[in-house]
Amino acid sequence: MILSVGRTDIGRVRDANEDAFLAAPTILAVADGMGGHDAGALAAKTAIEAVRQHIKPGSRQPAREIGRAFARANRTIRKIGAREGHKHMGTTLTVATIHGDMAWIGHAGDSRAYLFRDNRLIQLTADHSLVAELVRRGQLTPDDARKHPKRNIITRAVGSDRQIKPDIFSHDLQPGDRLLLCTDGLTGPIDDSRLFDLGSSRFPGDRTADKLIKAANEAGGDDNITVVIGDVEQAEPLPGRSRAPLYALLIIVLALVVFAGISWRLNHLYYLTASSGRVTVNRGLPVEPFGLNLGRFDYRTSVRVKDLPDYYVARLKQEMVVGDKKRLDTILTDIKDLARRNR
Ligand code: MG
Repeated sequence: MILSVGRTDIGRVRDANEDAFLAAPTILAVADGMGGHDAGALAAKTAIEAVRQHIKPGSRQPAREIGRAFARANRTIRKIGAREGHKHMGTTLTVATIHGDMAWIGHAGDSRAYLFRDNRLIQLTADHSLVAELVRRGQLTPDDARKHPKRNIITRAVGSDRQIKPDIFSHDLQPGDRLLLCTDGLTGPIDDSRLFDLGSSRFPGDRTADKLIKAANEAGGDDNITVVIGDVEQAEPLPGRSRAPLYALLIIVLALVVFAGISWRLNHLYYLTASSGRVTVNRGLPVEPFGLNLGRFDYRTSVRVKDLPDYYVARLKQEMVVGDKKRLDTILTDIKDLARRNR
């Protein structure tokens, strides 16, 4: 379970808030709309609504549901944009859904998901933006990127193309972890070290969110600011996600295959003994590992043991392993010859 809280603020410069968020017990999401007039706000709301509808708590297929939510949001936003004549209507969307001890993340755009763990701040998502691409190529430092005039150009957004390809991945969770999702209104004015100082403090989520928004406004507040925080209280693996039953089944199948193989092999192995004064054919092996008898009587031949030379009788008494059927037939022919000559 996580304790989730969300805050959004218009900032100090914009005349409308085009961000939207969701802070539910197992689903966190932020969206930063664009397109001017009401289009941005509508795009962001549409994306959040798609998350609400298509991502269900406790689902067995979180990745698939995330993909579906993005696809549905993309289609709806494009439809609205075409109908209302909003050419550049779109939105970022970053969503985290909690499944036992895993967080599944879906992401498109330059909003972000962070994880605070053990006094560390880990950025889980990679920005889909022009400046982030330049940082990845080593042509820009993260600090320069935050002040770059083209920092608002994003390379992937919900609603901008016919198909949306969100990043979808999972990350493990531990009790005490804090997930933080935010729009660029926070990460523009606030760098990672300041975010770490303000966000990782053990203040409750709601106070932390307020402090972060305040800090972003004090640093200029030139964009809408949205923060969603999820504090992980418990992180138990989902029941049934264990692979133990599958492994048990595999072992049973393997054991059966091995057993069938051994049985087949034993059924095609022969050894000779002397019983009731006759040379006797047996199948299997004349051994008993762990008390398990691997040999069995097959049939008694017409050859009398007393017609055979002494050395042969001695061998029969010790049980004479001969091998396969072909070898058995050869040896039986030899034995019959010997008996005839010895009679
Ligand atoms: Mg923004």
